[in-house]
Amino acid sequence: MQFIDLKTQQEKIKTGIDDRIQTVLAHGKYIMGPEIKELEQVLADFVEVKHCITCSSGTDALLMALMAWDIGPGDAVFTPPFTFIATAEVIQLLGATPVFVDIDENTFNINPLKLAEEIDRTKKEGKLTPKVIMPVDLFGLPANYPEIDSISRKYDLLVLEDGAQGFGGSIEGKMACSFGNMAATSFFPAKPLGCYGDGGAIFTNEDSMAEKLVSIRVHGKGGHKYDNVRVGINGRLDTLQAAILLEKMTIFPEEIRLRNAVASQYTERLKNKVITPFIPDGYVSAWAQYSIVAESSDHRIEIQERLKNHDIPTGIYYPIPLHLQTAFTKLGYRKGDFPVSEPTSERIFSLPMHPYLTETDIEKITGLV
Ligand SMILES: *Cc1c(COP(=O)(O)O)cnc(C)c1O
Repeated sequence: MQFIDLKTQQEKIKTGIDDRIQTVLAHGKYIMGPEIKELEQVLADFVEVKHCITCSSGTDALLMALMAWDIGPGDAVFTPPFTFIATAEVIQLLGATPVFVDIDENTFNINPLKLAEEIDRTKKEGKLTPKVIMPVDLFGLPANYPEIDSISRKYDLLVLEDGAQGFGGSIEGKMACSFGNMAATSFFPAKPLGCYGDGGAIFTNEDSMAEKLVSIRVHGKGGHKYDNVRVGINGRLDTLQAAILLEKMTIFPEEIRLRNAVASQYTERLKNKVITPFIPDGYVSAWAQYSIVAESSDHRIEIQERLKNHDIPTGIYYPIPLHLQTAFTKLGYRKGDFPVSEPTSERIFSLPMHPYLTETDIEKITGLV
């Protein structure tokens, strides 16, 4: 059994993918070909945001958004420690400081109460200037944006949604990647909407930001390519990846529906055995991962071993919270600083999740948990 089955999906859309690739090979515009603009329009319409700027990866999407706001040394960016390294990595790359905020124990997303406390503490301490809140839509579930929005207004902070796992989710019908001032997503193959390589996108309703992002994406270009008005990066998405994503978008809404059906079946069969995912009323998850919490780390090992013996892969997202990563030692955090993230990382693990899991697969997996 596969953790994420991209093969069944490919068989479904093979002709369309082949046609799209042949079209790119025929026109030969491998860099910023017409598929880029076409995809950006499709994605912006899907999310219902004015601008979509595609780019080279989810990491670069986050980086470019922070660059567009001129985030740098002395700035504090508030983000959870229970996420993928890229979330906090880009903050440190720009010389700014990640200020970690513990997660909510039910949703695994940033805890708004603790967020407000951490902003107050940082302001009082007076060493850093609070600038950005970077919530993460972990495992596909949008963070608590209604609460985060009111906090950002109260403290006059910017919000960057890390929607790398969230694309396709929603809150009361409002799509993930439309929250905050800017949002970033990833098209890494294993994400809910994946291409066949690296890719990402940034979403915003602000014209001035969109213009700046387009410049940052190509080495800070001004009026033309060899007029450089700022320092940027080589952050373009390949035309071939855009072509593949256009074809994948034709089945994406249906795939989100199927992922939700799989998740419901999992939860129905597992709710009396382990802690199953909590989805607040009005929220829809994109189910990047279906993650469950065992009673202890030994219990987790025991279940993972049993599944492995039956050829069922599992994954641990994430075994080490970011504040305990060597790369962030200089931030000065210690074990015990985040009482929810730490035990969660010791007990959580993820089951196979993709739109094409059958009832038989689900029955087999859940019978072994
Ligand atoms: C995958 C991921 C990223 C980075 O995306 P890439 O396309 O791999 O660079 C950032 N944040 C989170 C939460 C992710 O899961």
